Amino acid sequence: MQHLASNIAHELAKFRRFAAIHNPKIKVTSPIPDSLLLTPAGVSPTPGAKDIGFTCFAAVHGNEPGGLAAVNQYLESLFSAASPLKLTGQIAFAVGNPKALAGTKRFVDRDLNRSFGRLGADTYEEQRAKELEVLLLRSRYFLDLHQTKEPSDRAFFIFPYLKQSYQYARTLNPALTIITHWGKGFSEEGQCSDEFINKKGGVGVTLELGQGGFDQTMIDCGVRAIAKAVALIGSEPNAGATVTVTGELYTWGAILPWPSATKAGEVVVLKAGLTNFCSVNPHEEVAHVGGSPVKAPIKGKILFPKYLAPEEQAKLKAKGALPTELIRILKPITEQDLPDHL
Ligand SMILES: [Zn+2]
Repeated sequence: MQHLASNIAHELAKFRRFAAIHNPKIKVTSPIPDSLLLTPAGVSPTPGAKDIGFTCFAAVHGNEPGGLAAVNQYLESLFSAASPLKLTGQIAFAVGNPKALAGTKRFVDRDLNRSFGRLGADTYEEQRAKELEVLLLRSRYFLDLHQTKEPSDRAFFIFPYLKQSYQYARTLNPALTIITHWGKGFSEEGQCSDEFINKKGGVGVTLELGQGGFDQTMIDCGVRAIAKAVALIGSEPNAGATVTVTGELYTWGAILPWPSATKAGEVVVLKAGLTNFCSVNPHEEVAHVGGSPVKAPIKGKILFPKYLAPEEQAKLKAKGALPTELIRILKPITEQDLPDHL
């Protein structure tokens, strides 16, 4: 834990140091706290328009620091003397939730990734969302780097379905799994970052790098996605390009709600060892509450299992803040199943 906290402090300090960089080819400014706007020399963008070609956030959830390491690694190579990387338009980066990140927790007052597009500004996250929205409104393309709580056998894109978002994700990395969904928003409490930018005329996707931490394979995956996104600036993803898609495609098959009718003293016990993308069969017991089993309604792959210790459940229950969901089960689909057949 101490080690993790010092790694996080190190990455945060590294990111902040880029703000003071003087580079003859790239001007660096910070339009909002803990952000970097990189403007290549000779480029004079039109203010008010979508003048940022690509924006990347990391650590919108403070317990997911790996994306920040990817951003830092990319920026180091961009600013290294030997860099072959060229910038043809403005790009921006931001630490989503610096306060939660510094405290190694998911959020301070409320989930930042359910706080976009809200009117209120009473909580720290609502205020931070307002700042981040300034960048999102100016951005054409957007990548949000996240990590999962439980282990995952892969990195994957996840976003509300839009044809442009789908094509963007496939162009950034055609080998990665995509989970997409349509109809209702991901959550009723407020918008996710990608949902917000999609509603404002940009194109945004979320990339889950794998389980929270600083695994180098995950960081490399993030760096590659950023580098590809920067290389694409000024072009339309997929226009005329043939990408060989090998990544799998899923949507929700079922969302199991957090069992609400727990009696006093009863806790929800999720079956041990459920990880992201592990398979379950129909009628397989995935949890139990008291003596009653909770069974998987369909065959599929598990996503976002929520393990909560009994004392944590009691605390959240007292606050009326128990999670809304226990697990999601994914079903495989093809492009033909997408709302507007690509
Ligand atoms: Zn997250």
